[in-house]
Formats: sequence, C-alpha cells, structure tokens
Amino acid sequence: MSTTPDLATIEAMDAADPLRSMRERFVLPQGVIYLDGNSLGAASAVVFSELQQAATQEWAQDLIRAWNTAGWFNMPVELGDQLGRLIGAADGQTVVCDTTSINIYKLLHAALGMRPNRSVIVAEGDSFPTDLYMAEGVASTRPGTRLRLEGVDAAAIEDLIDDSVAVILVNHVNYKSGQLRDMAALTRKAHDAGALIIWDLCHTAGALPVELDRANADFAVGCTYKYLNGGPGSPAFIYAAERHHGDISQPLSGWWGHARPFAFEQGFAVGSGIRRFLCGTQPVLSMRALKGALDIWNDVDMAAVRRKSIALTDLFIQLVEARCGAYGLELESPRDGSQRGSQVSFLHPHGYQVMRALIERGVIGDFRAPSTIRFGFTPLYVGYGDVWQAVEVLEDILRTGAWQDARFAVKTAVT
Ligand SMILES: *Cc1c(COP(=O)(O)O)cnc(C)c1O
Repeated sequence: MSTTPDLATIEAMDAADPLRSMRERFVLPQGVIYLDGNSLGAASAVVFSELQQAATQEWAQDLIRAWNTAGWFNMPVELGDQLGRLIGAADGQTVVCDTTSINIYKLLHAALGMRPNRSVIVAEGDSFPTDLYMAEGVASTRPGTRLRLEGVDAAAIEDLIDDSVAVILVNHVNYKSGQLRDMAALTRKAHDAGALIIWDLCHTAGALPVELDRANADFAVGCTYKYLNGGPGSPAFIYAAERHHGDISQPLSGWWGHARPFAFEQGFAVGSGIRRFLCGTQPVLSMRALKGALDIWNDVDMAAVRRKSIALTDLFIQLVEARCGAYGLELESPRDGSQRGSQVSFLHPHGYQVMRALIERGVIGDFRAPSTIRFGFTPLYVGYGDVWQAVEVLEDILRTGAWQDARFAVKTAVT
C-alpha cells in the first residue's frame, strides 16, 4: 500500500487544482468544513443577486407583468435545457418542476401507460425510500400493478427483468453507499426485455458526467438542491427522451401542461413536447435561485469535476483508514473510484453520535440510519486541505471517545 500523503503534499495538490478558484463563488461559514453538499448544496453569491433581482425588481416593481417581461413563464423549459447540458440531454427533453417525488409519480404512470400489457415495476430494495413510497402509491391506483425489488425478490436487478416488466426505476448513484450503476448497460438490458427505464439522478446531477441521450435512456428525474446548489427545496427536473413525447400521458393534468393554458378551455388538451410534464404554477423565486446556481456550471468542465471528485474521495478513504482504522469504521462505499459517486460512507456502530460530534466541531456530514456516516465531496468548493482537516477532527473524536458524551445521543428531527 502506498504511504499516505503529508500536509505539504496536500497543500501542493490544492495549489495545482484547476477548480480551486470556484470556491470563491460560494458563501460558506468560517470554520466549517462542509461535506454535506450531497444533501444540501452550498449558497453562492450569484444566487443571492438573482433572488434580490427577482424579489425587489421583478416582483415588487414589475408585478404581474414579470411573467412576460422577466421570462418567468418559460423558466421551467429554459432552465431544463440549461440543466440538460449537464446530464447529456439535447434541448427540449428536460423540464424543471415540482419535486423529485412528484416527478417519479408522473413518470411511473406515464411509463405504465406506455406498456399497457405489462404490470411490474422493478426497483431497488435499498433505494432512496421516497422512490419506493411513490411506486407503492402509483401501484395502489392501478389495480394489478406489482413491485419487484432488488435485494428482496432477487439479489441483482438484472435478474428481475423479464417480459412482464413495464418499467424499471433505478438510482444511478445509491444515496447511502455511493455505488454507481452502468447506465448504458442497464438501459440496454431493459430495452432488450421491452421495458422502459427511469434513472434517478439525485446523486449524479452536478456530481459526475452522465450521458442520457447517448445511453438511450427513456426517462430521468433528479433534484437540484444537492450537487447543483439550487437552494433548499429548489425544484426538481424531469427528462423524457424526445422519441416518447407523443406517447406520454401523465396523471397530474394541470393547466401548465395544457396546450393553451391561457385559452381557459374546459377540457384538458395535452401540451406539446416536454411541457406536458408541468402541472401548476412553479416557484419563481426558487427557480431564479436555481438559474444563478446553474450559471456557475457554464464555466465548469464536468470531466475535471469527476477527476477531482475521485481524487478527494480516494484521499479521504486513504487517510481515514490509515489514521482511524483502529476505531471500528468500515468502508461502505466502493473502494474503486470508478464505481463510486462523489461521496464516501463508513459504517460505525455509533455512527449517529460520531456524526453529531463531528458537526459540533465544524465538520458537517450526515448520518443515515442505521449506522452510516456519510461524507459528500463537492469539487467546486471542497479542497484537499479540507479532507486533511476533516480526518484530523474525526481521528481526534474517535481516539478521545468525545462522541460518547450523552448530548450526542439525543436525536434531532432531521439527520
Ligand atoms: C434526495 C433524493 C430524493 C428527494 O426527493 P424530494 O421529492 O426532493 O424530497 C429522491 N430520490 C433520491 C434518490 C434522492 O437522493
């Protein structure tokens, strides 16, 4: 095994980092090492100026006229195209709207409607739970629909796919372990069986390059408040390959998805293209914040993001195992960087307390029940020196047993 780098080496890595200057665009508190951008991305100065402009000029001065003059009405599709460039989607196939959970509901219904002679939804038993909750909800409204789960009905998702499967709902990067799936290969497998596939990109968008069009994906969803830094509760997105647009019917047939919303007609007539996934009025202030956050990516090479992400996560694993190996931590993420998203998870029997102690010392990651401590590495604003510092604090907490203090065992509402 190679020797672990020393602080001087790590400082040299930061000095040579081509993404280093991006850090200045973000606003982070002093004394905090933020390793939770995979849960809520950091704020940026450009987001504040977008919000300021949207509130004080467009809303306060332009009032209702701003729907036209400030382009509010078209923002879902314009932001969708801008976001599409980060996920390998040509224009006209991505729309920003609603939440990931709601968008999963729309897409599962649309996909089931496109495969009327099939009744099975395949998903992962260890999926982010809302994906499964929504699948249950969809199944409850369509008698005869059944769920088949990886880890429950078979060990590997590939073994669940046959000609009864209408749609596969799958996470590109597992939220807990960070395990990455091969999008092109699983998409091909789905299509070979005549099934459709929905990729959940919540832990992908803004974290690593992905090529939806090239992988021949059918559908995708994802959120914008994690690696894309859109702000708390910023709207999610839907991708639908253009070849499917004519066949899609989604159940939330609100006026924003109507062909002529301002004709105020009596019956629903579905709008064209990706707009058909819209339902009702969208959160304009949140969309304006997202616009600022997405503009940052105009100056970013996603391949460089991926290179740095792997280097950061490799370094973290190497330092934690070298310095904290004696304290009961077990690597939960893949060791091979090419198999991992932009996060590292370790199992620890008292993970909750360890994470609370870390947060109190300014190293912010998060905890996922029952025993995962999770660290997200966002190459735009995390450096190699941050990794070093975080491991220093983690080692200290484990060596001294500081995490055993009773106050760290009291559960907070959000972990
Ligand atoms: C974060 C996340 C969600 C969140 O869904 P919301 O509807 O935005 O709350 C859904 N799926 C996955 C895989 C996630 O990581």
